[in-house]
Amino acid sequence: MLYLYLIEALLYVLIIGVVFAIFKIKKVEKLKIVIIILPILMLLTLGITFVLEKPEIKIDENISYEVGKAKSLDKISAKYHFIDVSEKVKIEGNIDFNKVGKYEIKYVVPTLLGNYIKTQIVEIVDTTPPVITLQGNEIEEISYKDEYNEIGFTVSDNSNEDLKDKVVITKEEVNDKEYKLIYTVEDSSRNKATVARTIKLVDKEPPEITLNGSAKLSIELNSKYSEQGAKATDEIDGDLSDKIVITGKVDTTKTGEYAIIYTVKDNSGNQAKKTRTVTVVKKEIVNVNSNTNNNSATNTNNNSTTNQSNNSDNNTGKNSGIIYLTFDDGPSSSITPKILDILKSKGVKATFFILNYSAENEKLVKREINEGHTVAIHGYSHEYKEIYKSVDTYMNNITKLQEKIKKSTGYNATITRFPGGSSNTVSRFNPGIMTKLTKEVLARGYKYFDWNVSSNDAGGAKTSTQVYNNVVNGLKKNRANVVLMHDFSGNTKTVNALSDIIDYGLANGYTFSKITESTPMVTHRVNN
Ligand code: ZN
Repeated sequence: MLYLYLIEALLYVLIIGVVFAIFKIKKVEKLKIVIIILPILMLLTLGITFVLEKPEIKIDENISYEVGKAKSLDKISAKYHFIDVSEKVKIEGNIDFNKVGKYEIKYVVPTLLGNYIKTQIVEIVDTTPPVITLQGNEIEEISYKDEYNEIGFTVSDNSNEDLKDKVVITKEEVNDKEYKLIYTVEDSSRNKATVARTIKLVDKEPPEITLNGSAKLSIELNSKYSEQGAKATDEIDGDLSDKIVITGKVDTTKTGEYAIIYTVKDNSGNQAKKTRTVTVVKKEIVNVNSNTNNNSATNTNNNSTTNQSNNSDNNTGKNSGIIYLTFDDGPSSSITPKILDILKSKGVKATFFILNYSAENEKLVKREINEGHTVAIHGYSHEYKEIYKSVDTYMNNITKLQEKIKKSTGYNATITRFPGGSSNTVSRFNPGIMTKLTKEVLARGYKYFDWNVSSNDAGGAKTSTQVYNNVVNGLKKNRANVVLMHDFSGNTKTVNALSDIIDYGLANGYTFSKITESTPMVTHRVNN
């Protein structure tokens, strides 16, 4: 400002000099004029300059701030008439410091000639890259069988942009046991961030144990248990059969259930376990009465003279006797529903040793199951010549029916009865077959039952009275009575005798029960 005054002063001197020269003014008067006019002129100038003076504001035309960091503009300094007026400067215009963009700001200073305005462009910029934070670990281990499922990540950015959906994940193979996931994101100001996660493919799958032989089997008391072993394979480590550890023992001198446990670990420490249940069973071998034997014509059993009249000797005191009613050779549409109706009305559960059944009769098998009876396997076929041809033909005859029952009802039948009984002699065309089969069915996890009371309804009994007498005379107190009856087509005499048989049993203190896997086996002596 000062130079302005100096220029003005020089200008005045020049003007006065010019005036003097033109008007040829005398020296004395010159002095007078100078003394009088010069101060007036100078005061005048001073006044004009004062009024015209602009404020001095120190700002840059363009300024930038990092988004989200600054909260207000920097302090500015302004001077007007040599006085600091920084505090009086008004700022017009708004800036969002959290949003990238260009903003125009006006600095306003009031002057003697109105407002003095200076503008500034303020740019809010983003030069800070976003930050990706991985959830989970930087190194994740997953099973070689699984696909990696993204655990998650968060993205933060100083611009408050939502960048989550803009993250691009790319896969980079390292080797066949490891790969990297690269997470990349760019904010709208083109700042880029990258993080990586390593995925390691490890073996988390246990090996697979396959038992040699049946997982559930029975052996006879005092026989020898021979360990059949197991195989183990692992998808990564291959054959691990040698590493199987077998624990558990079978005490064949005591009946009961024993668990043999097979464990194996693969090289990554994944363990597999499998159990074989071995049941040591005692067979109660019963004698077959000559009058009640299904195969009486061919049976040469010497012990067939059990005296039914001894019954009365036991008929005193409490009775712990159980009656297992069993019906063979069904289901039949004429007889089975009637038997089921009677059992239902008496609240008695029984056991049905069934044969192959028609689609029509499937509902009867379902009804037997639904009403709480045991559905047991007699065989797909009853043809002695066919089924006793070999161990395989017999076992197929069982499993074929077992699979059919399972498929149509979901029920797993494991109780069996040999057609003709285990004491049959009709199989002698194949010598020794019954000796083999009575062991084989146990080893395959089945149980078999013969009977110790026969209604003889497939033999000599012709009337319901005969059926009734055969049964009640065969019952003995304080023992398991397995009663043989039949629900094949047309067997009305058994239907007609059944109510009275049940009433007799209840009146004499017997308990009625169905055969289950835990029922002790009642079997005949093998004759072939
Ligand atoms: Zn039969």
